[in-house]
Amino acid sequence: MLYFDVNATAPPHPEADKVYREALEAHWHNPSSPYAAGARTHLLLSHSREELAHILGCSPVNLLFNSGATEGNHSIFSWFKETNPGAQVAVSAIEHPCVLESARRYFPDTLTLLPVTPEGVICLQGLEKALREGLDLVSVMAANNETGALQPWQDALALCRKYGVPYHCDAVQWLGKKPAKGLGECDFLTGCAHKFGGPRGVGFLRVPGDGSFKAQSGGGQEFGRRSGTENYPAIAAMIAALKFREHAVEKTTSEWTINRGIFEETLKSKLGVKVLAEKAPRLANTSCLLMPQESGARWVARMDKHGVCLSTGSACASGKTGASHVLTAMGLSPEDVRRSVRVSACWDASPEDWRRLAELLVETAASFREEAAADGNAHVIQI
Ligand code: PLP
Repeated sequence: MLYFDVNATAPPHPEADKVYREALEAHWHNPSSPYAAGARTHLLLSHSREELAHILGCSPVNLLFNSGATEGNHSIFSWFKETNPGAQVAVSAIEHPCVLESARRYFPDTLTLLPVTPEGVICLQGLEKALREGLDLVSVMAANNETGALQPWQDALALCRKYGVPYHCDAVQWLGKKPAKGLGECDFLTGCAHKFGGPRGVGFLRVPGDGSFKAQSGGGQEFGRRSGTENYPAIAAMIAALKFREHAVEKTTSEWTINRGIFEETLKSKLGVKVLAEKAPRLANTSCLLMPQESGARWVARMDKHGVCLSTGSACASGKTGASHVLTAMGLSPEDVRRSVRVSACWDASPEDWRRLAELLVETAASFREEAAADGNAHVIQI
């Protein structure tokens, strides 16, 4: 199988998997239990928190473990609503739906969507203008899941500091593909393990360390800020996976850059594809393509038959596809949005994997052309 859908979820890192199994065997006890085995797990949990704090560059008291980024993003907006009911909130127009929909749900009347350029990057002048007019919370992701476009989160954070406004960054796609250092300076930060080779259903949240933040009530775990028994084996595996990725970030980035460059040039010259956000700084594993002839969904289905996993930019949980709000915000027409396909490579994708992927796409284009000719299908767009 050729797996080119890491931005959806990453295969488990073998070493992180080992850490998970060992922890499950030896340290499955409840970290809140009042006996030595529980205390040992609690100690290990504290150690994991310290390791994550070190990677991100914040204090362990800022970090809460949770079930992942959807929970984390939702809990920020829900807590903000509770403590600042009339808050003016601005989020970028290209956020993941779990940010956009939470912001819309809790702040339907006071929400501003920050526009992006045609390259899919947030406009900092627009952000500064909104800050000048008065905001209480800003949310801009670190890297976009559909196009890979990197957002200037350091500049957005600096602007928010200048105006004394808390800044939230969804760093889900950045972590494991770019160095994490410095992200811990954001007031709110969300991450999840399954995007960088850790287990599914575990993540973290960086929040202010003053004890004011509360995600969910109950047994008082996570310093009373996010109740629910911590999944220590999954947390330990998440930290292990992130450490492995951090060590290899530079090497994989340069490999991706070379291989993706050849891949995109091949498809541009042989199929006339357009690469979206091509001129923006991008995650080096991601290529969002406007394909010829057919809808993105049809390309994805046909490639699946060849054992290749890709996705359309707009796949949602039900497996259905809708118009991508990200590509729409970049100014693409509905027809172009419909033709998008996202390629997102694994850390170990070889030059041969990229070459084979390009070859299969070129072969598939030829078969679409032949099928269209056989059907006499005059309305099909020709390459
Ligand atoms: N934020 C971004 C940018 C994502 O790409 C995703 C998943 O696709 C999420 C949030 C949701 O993450 P989780 O699966 O941990 O809920």
